[in-house]
Amino acid sequence: MSKADRGRRYRLYATVEVEARLTAWGHTCRALWNMALHQRIYAYEQRGKTLNLASQGVHLTQARCELDWVADLAAQSAQQVVRHLDAAYANFWNPDHSAGFPSFKKRGRRLSVSFPGQAVSVRKLNRHWAEVRLPKLGWVKFRLSRAVGGTIRNATVSRDGNGWHISFGVHTGRKPDAPNGKPECGVDFGVAASAYVSTETTARRMPPTLTKSEKARLRFLEQRKARQITYAKKHAGGRYGNRLRKTIAQIAGLKTRQANRRADFTHKLTTDLAKNHGMIGIEDLRVKNMTKSAKGTIERPAAKVRQKAGLNRSILDNAPGERRRQLEYKCRMYGSKLAAVPAFHTSQTCAACGKVDPESRQGCGRMFSCVHCGHEDDADHNASIEIEARARRTGGSVTNSTRSTCTVRVPAQRGRRTREALPAAHG
Ligand SMILES: [Zn+2]
Repeated sequence: MSKADRGRRYRLYATVEVEARLTAWGHTCRALWNMALHQRIYAYEQRGKTLNLASQGVHLTQARCELDWVADLAAQSAQQVVRHLDAAYANFWNPDHSAGFPSFKKRGRRLSVSFPGQAVSVRKLNRHWAEVRLPKLGWVKFRLSRAVGGTIRNATVSRDGNGWHISFGVHTGRKPDAPNGKPECGVDFGVAASAYVSTETTARRMPPTLTKSEKARLRFLEQRKARQITYAKKHAGGRYGNRLRKTIAQIAGLKTRQANRRADFTHKLTTDLAKNHGMIGIEDLRVKNMTKSAKGTIERPAAKVRQKAGLNRSILDNAPGERRRQLEYKCRMYGSKLAAVPAFHTSQTCAACGKVDPESRQGCGRMFSCVHCGHEDDADHNASIEIEARARRTGGSVTNSTRSTCTVRVPAQRGRRTREALPAAHG
């Protein structure tokens, strides 16, 4: 069967009863995941046995007979959990995939319930609304903000700070475009400027993600939260009351809005780059290495921890790894080439004479001023031209691609632990 090649996400409008049931199911899925993962680790460490999908499926059937709360969850969703865990293990063992060892899911995480494609059906109500039939729940409305445009292969209902959404993995069968023959460029993804394209004269910056009044409201809510926590500690033994929960939910709503705007900017940027360029050169950065070393170790505490933490935050906000992932599949889609070039000294290399000298960057802030030929430019623009030149030399083939075939990701499959943090028995 042809796989899903696109993702679609819509806002779900469920009744209070349906939402309560979905919340319960979300926690059930999380518990099942943790149990299945624990079972796998235990079986391996204690008996040297590797459990697979089939043997865990048998255990799942037993659990459904014995536990009411597991039986309440739709059977297909429970199977999806085991299937996702199996895929998470496969990704972990795959040397071309960046996934770490599967991690346990904490209580505060985003709730989600998955269904295979054949368990759901969708019907359109009118131009703006459609509904989806979920097992045991019946028809649930969602806002049809764009056409589904293909066959649904899987569905995931999830809750974030802004309420419930449904996302579909869709098979569209769209063929990649032929090479588009558009101009070549190099892009420097910076911390100060969001992106500098070598063919442009100004940097592309991310617009403010919260308005002035939203920022003020966030500050107000944070203060209220602190006050309510103090109150809870004094009078309720630290137990969270309804007002405090409401404040936390309101903060989460604003933060989600901010994250959505950031993601929107990143998507528009990468689509624009891929559609309008025949080749795009980017730096082959290892995000983990850039953001890793804020704290240092106990024996050797790192200097400037606060500053580095701030830099980490802004690097992750600007999300170079995510941009690269998007560029990889969008370039393939729109007939463009992506070239990841070594990032070695791009910011110290003169785009005019090619001399590498750290002196060229000294004492001039965001400016680049070559000490050999006198060439002057914005430092990021200078770097983007150097990146373009390096990309031309490598001929525009993607190097060191970490997930070149993955276009639709299942959130549950991403572990945060690295291969190094793996329990010794698995090594
Ligand atoms: Zn020069």
